[in-house]
Amino acid sequence: MSIHCPSCGSHQVVSRNYGRKVSGVTGAAAGSASGAAGALSGAAQRTRQPCGLC
Ligand SMILES: [Zn+2]
Repeated sequence: MSIHCPSCGSHQVVSRNYGRKVSGVTGAAAGSASGAAGALSGAAQRTRQPCGLC
């Protein structure tokens, strides 16, 4: 699965969000089910943000 900017299609967004996404998933794995749901929801929202280059 590739992540790209919804506005311009740049794959630059991957490097911007990857660190946060990984840390969120790791925290969710160590946390409760409700924490996992919140982390996944937050990660999904972040992947939809523009890359900042457009
Ligand atoms: Zn963009």
